[in-house]
Parts: sequence; C-alpha cells; structure tokens
Amino acid sequence: MTEAERQQVIALGRLLAAERRDGCADRVTTDGLVAYLNQWSAAAGSAARLPAVQRALGCLVGYDGMTLVERDQALAEAIEILRSLFRTAPTAPVETTVPPSPAVDPTANAGHVPVTKRNTSARQSRKRAANVDQRPLAELNLDAPLEQIAGIDWRLVGGFRRLGVRTIRDLLYHFPRRYDDVRNRRSISELQVGAEETVIGEVTDVRTIGAGPKLRVRVEVSDETGSIEAIFFNQRWIAQQIRVGQTIALSGKVTTFGGKRQFSSPRWERYTPDPDALLHTGRLVPIHPLTQGLHENQVRRFIKQVVDTMAPQVEDHLPPVRLQHARLLPLGEALAQIHFPTDHTSLAAARRRLGFDEFLFIQIGVLQRKRLWQQEMGYAFTIDSQVHAELQRLLPFQLTTAQQRAIEEIFSDLRRPSPMARLLQGDVGSGKTVVAAAALLQAVANGFQGALMAPTEILAEQHAKNLKQLLSRVRVPRKTTSATASSAYQQADWRSLLDPEEAAQLAEIISILGMSPEEDMGGHGVRVALLTGSLGTRERRRVLEGIARGEIDLVVGTHALITETVQFAQLGLVVVDEQHRFGVEQRLRLKNKGYNPHMLVMTATPIPRTLTMTIYGDLDVSVLDERPPGRQEIRTKRVGRAERAKVYRHIRKQVAEGRQVYVICPLVEESEKLDLPSAEEMYERLQHEVFPDLRVALLHGKLSAREKDDVMRAFRDHQYDILVATAVIEVGIDVPNATTIVIEGAERFGLAQLHQFRGRVGRGHHQSYCILISDSDNQQSKERLAALEQTTDGFKLAEIDLQLRGPGEFFGTRQSGTPDLKMAQQGDTRLLAEARALADAILADDPELKRPEHDLLRRKVNDFWAAATQSG
Ligand code: ADP
Ligand code: MG
Repeated sequence: MTEAERQQVIALGRLLAAERRDGCADRVTTDGLVAYLNQWSAAAGSAARLPAVQRALGCLVGYDGMTLVERDQALAEAIEILRSLFRTAPTAPVETTVPPSPAVDPTANAGHVPVTKRNTSARQSRKRAANVDQRPLAELNLDAPLEQIAGIDWRLVGGFRRLGVRTIRDLLYHFPRRYDDVRNRRSISELQVGAEETVIGEVTDVRTIGAGPKLRVRVEVSDETGSIEAIFFNQRWIAQQIRVGQTIALSGKVTTFGGKRQFSSPRWERYTPDPDALLHTGRLVPIHPLTQGLHENQVRRFIKQVVDTMAPQVEDHLPPVRLQHARLLPLGEALAQIHFPTDHTSLAAARRRLGFDEFLFIQIGVLQRKRLWQQEMGYAFTIDSQVHAELQRLLPFQLTTAQQRAIEEIFSDLRRPSPMARLLQGDVGSGKTVVAAAALLQAVANGFQGALMAPTEILAEQHAKNLKQLLSRVRVPRKTTSATASSAYQQADWRSLLDPEEAAQLAEIISILGMSPEEDMGGHGVRVALLTGSLGTRERRRVLEGIARGEIDLVVGTHALITETVQFAQLGLVVVDEQHRFGVEQRLRLKNKGYNPHMLVMTATPIPRTLTMTIYGDLDVSVLDERPPGRQEIRTKRVGRAERAKVYRHIRKQVAEGRQVYVICPLVEESEKLDLPSAEEMYERLQHEVFPDLRVALLHGKLSAREKDDVMRAFRDHQYDILVATAVIEVGIDVPNATTIVIEGAERFGLAQLHQFRGRVGRGHHQSYCILISDSDNQQSKERLAALEQTTDGFKLAEIDLQLRGPGEFFGTRQSGTPDLKMAQQGDTRLLAEARALADAILADDPELKRPEHDLLRRKVNDFWAAATQSG
C-alpha cells in the first residue's frame, strides 16, 4: 500500500467504525452509506482496487436494505478485513487489475468469470492480501466457500452470502425459482405483441437518450425481415457493451410504444452460432433467486460455470441399481438439469430426483426414530375384555364407531411385544380422552402404571379430573402391588396379603388421593394421582413414594413428569396430549430411566393426510373422524371492525345470561397499533370503557406459566366474565360455561389455529358463537375466513389452509424438527410412498447405515435433519 492508499483506507475504516458505533442507523453520512461508498470508491483511486478493500466493500453491498443485525455483522466483517491490510507487509505488492468500482456496471466483464488469467505472482500477492487461498474451480471441492474460487467477483460472494449460499454445494442447491421458456426464435417480422419471444439480429444502432433517472439506451436490431428497438432503462453500461455490427440475441415480451413494436429491457447476449452456448436467451432460461447486489445475467453466467465444472463431480448417495429401480436421474445430472434444463422432460426428471431425495432423507430419519423406539422389547399386554366392557358399561354415553376403531388399533399394538408408537388424531371434542382412558385402564389391568402428560398444569388438572370421573367405578382385578410381571390375579381382598406397614402406606395414599370407599372398592379401584406444583411438600413426597412402590396406578402431570426425578415401579404406557413433537430426546430420557413403555401421542391439530407421513412418519396413526352425537354447531360469523358495538351488545347479553366470553387478540407490532389493539390495550378498553361493570381478565404471553394457570383457573371458576387473551389460549382448555369467542384481526391467524380457538366454546349445552373480526380485503384472507364460516370440519379446513398457504405456514410457526421441502411437492404422495419404500428397504438391510456404500447417504441424512432442526 502506498501512503496515499493508506490514508484512504483509514478514512474508510474510521467511517465504518463510526457507523457501527452509531447503531448502524445509516445516518453518519448525508446520503447514506451506499452513496458514500460509491463516492469513496470513485475518489480513492488505486486504494479502491485493493483486493481486501474490494472484499470489505463486498460485505456492504445492499447495506441500506439490510436489517440492523445484518448491518452490524457486515460492518464488523468489513472492518476486520480492512484491519488485515495493516497486519500484512507494509510495502505495496504489484497490484493486479481487478473489476471496476461498485458504482459501475456489474455485468461489465461479460462472457465469463476470470479464472486463471492472472500471472502467478500477481495472484499470490492477491491471495496474501485477501487472506484467502484461491484456486481455479476445478481444483476445489464441493464444500469450498465461494470466495476460494479464483477471481470470483466479491459482489457475488456478498450477495450470495445474504441468500445463505456460502459454499459451492450450497450454490448447486440454490435452485431457480422458475424458468422462462424462450426457445421460440422468430424472425423480426413474425414477432407477436404480448408474447415472450426471442430474435437474433445485427445491431444497427445504439444511442443513449436522456440523463439521470430518465436515462435510456436504445438499441436497434435488424434481420433480413425488418428491425426492432430494444429499450434499456437506466442501464448506462449497455451502451458500452452492445456495439453496432455485433450479432445479439434478445428475449422478452414484445410491447408496443407509439405504434411501434419494441422490447423493453429484454434479456440479451452476444450471439454465438453454437445453439448450446446460448445461456440467457433462446432456451428454458432459469431465473434464480436474487438479492441486492446480485444481477441476473451475472449470476446465471456464474452458476453455469460452476454447474458445468462441479455437477459432474457430485457423488451420488444412491447406488446405480437403486437409481435404475426407482427410475431416478443420477444426482449430478439432476443438479445440472435443474439449473439449465434441456427441455421440460429433463426438468421434470430432475425435479423428481431432487424431490425424491428430500422425501427419502425424511423417511429414513423418521423410520430410524421409530426403530430406535421399537428396537428393544417392550411389554406385551393381555387385553382384559371384561375390564373394557365394564368401562363401556359405566360410561354415560356410547362410544362412537371411530372411538371403537381407534381403541381396537391401540389394543392390537398393546398386545405386541414391541412398544407402541401411535398418534391419535381427532378434532376438538372428538372424544380422545376416553380412548386414552381405555388404554390406560389396560395398563393397570396388566399390573403396569400409566402416565398422562399435558402441556400445562391446568390441562393436567383437567385430565386428572376427567380420568377420575371416567374410571372411578371401574373395578380392576389386580396383582399384588409389587412390580412383578406375574399374571396371577388376586380376586379376593388382596390387601390381606400386605404386611402391616405396606397396608398403612397404601391407606395413606388412598387418603391423599381423596378416594371414597366406593371408589376404592376394596383396593380394586384405579388410583389416579395428579402430580403438579400445587401439591404440598409432604404430600408430594408421599405421592412420589407411592409411584415408586406401584401403589399409584396412573400419574397425570406436565412434561416435567419425565424430566423430573419421578421413579416408576413399572411404567407400561405413556400418553402425551397436545404435544406435536414428543421428541426423540424425551423418548431417550424414558429409555435411560430403564423404561420402554408403549406410547400414545394425541393431537387435536387436524393434519392433512398428505402431511402426516412426513411429519409424523415415525408414528402409526389413528384418526377420530366422527363427532359424538348431539353436538351443536357453533355459529360462526365474520364482521367488520365497524360492527364492534354490535358485538359488544352480544357479549353483554351472554354475560347477563350467566355465560362467559373469550376475546382473542393477535400479536401486533408497534407500528400497527393504530389499526389493531394489542391484548393489553383491548383489556384496558373493555374493562374501563366498554364493560366497567363486568369482570375482565387478561392473559398474555409475558406471564409466567404459573401466572397463566392462575388466570385460567380463575376464569374457569367463573371469577371473571370476559377473558382477553393472546394466542396463548390455544390449547385444549375446557370451560363449558364459555359460549362466545371473539377473534380480533382474525386474518392474522392460520385456519387450523382459528379452528382451535373456536373449539374453546361449544363445550357445554348452551348455543355458542365464534365472531371473527376482520377488515382485510386480501382475497386469500377472505377465502379462509369464509371457509371457517361454512364448515366446522377441522380436516377439511386443514386441507384448505394447506392449499391456500402451503405447509410452511400451516402450523402458524414452523414446528421444530419439521423439515422444509425445497423441491418435493407436499401433495406428491406417489413419490413419497416410493421414497418410503426405498427407505424401508435400505434400513431393513442396514438399520444404522453403517455399511461403506451407505456412508454418503448417512451423512446426507444427518445434514438434512441437522439443518431442519436448526432452522425450525
Ligand atoms: P377431545 O378429543 O377434544 O379431547 P374430549 O375427550 O375432551 O375431547 O371429549 C369432549 C366431550 O365429549 C367430553 O365431555 C366427553 O365426555 C364427551 N364424549 C366423548 N365421547 C363421547 C361419545 N361417544 N358420545 C358422547 N359424548 C362423548
Ligand atoms: Mg383433549
């Protein structure tokens, strides 16, 4: 570096540091940092062309469009790079010519990315200064970061980094978002106005017209049938690149202006007679996702070069026989074709292969989980049909056909020696609890214990109450309390067999559980304990002892049940309510405690069938697709905000009749508060302005779990008339006296979530109402809310939601551990089934993918799942 360059770099570094100290607000310069950098580059002369400076500037491309966090990171990187200049040798090496400053044309070095043009000593000096070991593409491997590609334009590195593309492999998997079919080459006289066309002709005139933002470059192209103009707006550099006498290809939509046909900012390139050489025009042109700092032609040219060199080197994780069998393209070919398809058929084949891979990785992952769960022997129950009949006899209702079917499916799992892994899916109110109860009862009848886990304490309380009610009169003949696996039933008063100390302990437990003699039935009643924070210390210790000794049959609690130090005598069945992902870790935790119980996961989120295989692929599925008879339809209506007064009259009437009401508010950003009240503001307004005489409670996300439970409990016990809440209310809380739910800003929520909200009412015998407040004009929002007005079938709504919004949005937020599909179509069940079959076949041979030929596959599956859990 010369002294002059040093001064320039220092000035730049000082400014960047100042910007960073100022909180990256982009106000330390008058016209913004981007403008400053352009001016600086123009004024700094050779300093601006130092490779390290170029890299530093590259970090800052698109600064004005970055978030504050991105800005801070970009500044930090740029400053660090500038610092490196002062650490290396102070004498200036011979500088190489590098691409022009950022203010100028990004596509200037058209044709190709310079790869090995520099002389060696110059390249080495560049390497040293840039601190990166750069090499020609062909010498790099797939995991090399882009900046290692010799001669790569720093703007590409910066732009791609912003898209999360860092390595060559990332780039190969940076798929086009669409393709423009511009293979129809025409002569100029044939061009149709309004159509996407391609012409090839000679440039007969180039002119720059106007200046500043109005600047246009007008290019006239002629062939033997006529001539046509192409207008490029505000792209001064075009006039340097397109010269009279050249032959070029133009692709784009033909428009008219002043009665003349023209192309407006078409894609273009210099024409070479080899048809395969056409890149931007005259083919299925890939349109890649771009971001600030990336320009279409430059990106396409760069990706083409990388794909051509690197795709043939991609190793396939599937052996050729498998490919043949499943009619799949080799991976390298699929990657080449997905970027630059020869035609629609090969594009479809490439999509099929890459989609298949995604399904395959998911299926291998979920099937491995399932194996992990089932590989060890579990407990084969003997189904006690007498006990089951007794339960049915004592129920105040008849089981629905769907409930009976689910119970049968569960029983047949329980009979097997491998642990059950089953998902019970049923809409709100479909009666999952009694199904769980029937299964838990069998665990008890087989001398085992059962655990039922809920996401919150108040839901656990609710479950404990329901279970006690359902099972309180069911007599279960049983073995002695000790955890022997003997199947000898003691029909008589087995308690006479206990020694006095054991008998006293049992009596204490029964009194702690508050069981009456009718419920105890001489020791044959089912002993259900609720293990939550509300137990006193002494009682808690006793209950824990009772669980460890096997005196307690069923334990209900939150998920803390398995994380805490609860010791079971013989845990035979775990039921998990409303946790969509009862993760691998939780199962492992159970295993590590020495249990290998059957497992039933319940969810009220209706999940379309096409999704269950991917998301819950490790579970077998039972569905309750029938509502118990005699349910009322909840009246659902969408109203505008202007009708709030009417809604409030309705609320007042309901409360006057002794009913309760929920009011749900979406989370709102500070900037939106003018339009949409937050839950806090809604609470203030309702309590102090609208209903000063009524009892209004507030439940929001900032409360602790304990505080939330307290508010919910008070509402349940009718200490409040109205509950204002954010989405935290969602899960299965049961307050039969609540008959109206009002949802503010209803368009903000997913259909599945709205349906869940609606399930909070209509749980008693009073007519119930769901009122959706929304002023949204958005067509999609309107359709979603209309669907909710028209149907109460959760599965139907889920399908509609999936269609309208796609799987990513389906759960409102992405579930952790739900992998994202880039290429596979969620609805492509055929391909999914094929991938599942292959996953099965591969794992049957080699369950842990330990064979050398599965090495690559194993790594791919691991990477895929690691990425999924990270971003989820
Ligand atoms: P969810 O599936 O939402 O957990 P629940 O198990 O809480 O539903 O059941 C909702 C209500 O329906 C409960 O009051 C339950 O007693 C009742 N119920 C369950 N099954 C039936 C049935 N077959 N016939 C009538 N009522 C039923
Ligand atoms: Mg439930």
